[in-house]
Amino acid sequence: MSDSPIFVLCQPDSRKSCGACCGLYNYADSTRPSLTLRLQSRTKRFRELVKSPDDLKLYSRQTLEAEDFQKRYEVIHCCEYLGFLDDQEKKVGCLLHPMQNAGVDMRDVSFYGQELCAGHLCPSHYFIPLSQSQILLKIIDDWFLYGLVLTDIDLVTKYFQLIADRVGSELKPAVFDDEALKNITLEYFGWKINWPFRSRETNRLGKYYFDGSQYMISHIDYERFGRDVSPLNSILLSLCSNFQDAAQLDAAEKMIWTNIEKFVAAYQRHV
Ligand code: SF4
Ligand code: SF4
Repeated sequence: MSDSPIFVLCQPDSRKSCGACCGLYNYADSTRPSLTLRLQSRTKRFRELVKSPDDLKLYSRQTLEAEDFQKRYEVIHCCEYLGFLDDQEKKVGCLLHPMQNAGVDMRDVSFYGQELCAGHLCPSHYFIPLSQSQILLKIIDDWFLYGLVLTDIDLVTKYFQLIADRVGSELKPAVFDDEALKNITLEYFGWKINWPFRSRETNRLGKYYFDGSQYMISHIDYERFGRDVSPLNSILLSLCSNFQDAAQLDAAEKMIWTNIEKFVAAYQRHV
């Protein structure tokens, strides 16, 4: 194990941040417009009502009454204290954090408690190599997309591995100063939001679904299409794919391979 300090990915800069582990994407309606409204109204309510920890009960009651807390996964908590941290609404984060409250840490009232909230680092910190997370920081400046991509380890690591296999080395973040390369990669990560083969029925988040008692990893029935498991299987699952027929599977694979080949061609012109 490396002894290097962990680079914390939650609030990396002034242009975006992540709130995934506070339940940001676990609402039945976790579309951008719906989440934006939710976060906006919480922040406004918090700023108006909360002058001291004594006011938190009222804030919490009003928020729970005002919002629809129907969830995707029942076992994942959706925290009512997640809001926008800045006036430009670029950063999602904890309204109870001391930096939001003149140094007063109010996280002890939360479902997880102060210690867990302050100390939690999600698996992305350990399973996405630093060079790859630094690429995400460099190219994504959108809170909604940042959290979705950052917490999808397969989506990130498989893509960069496929490219590294083709170009013969790991990509360095500096490569993404090149706008063309950045845009090709953003096209790929943007599929986390607008993938045309996304399953409408399952309202999943990535490859997991909850069957009522435990998490299950979703699967694609390749046999039904007379196919072996796709080399892009982990990406297709991360994008919540659901195919009606082999032609759709072919089209989905082609989109991803085309993106990768486009990247490799542009990279070879770049170096
Ligand atoms: S999901 Fe990970 S990166 Fe996002 S806020 Fe939680 S610990 Fe930070
Ligand atoms: S109280 Fe904890 S779970 Fe809630 S927003 Fe803050 S850090 Fe997230």
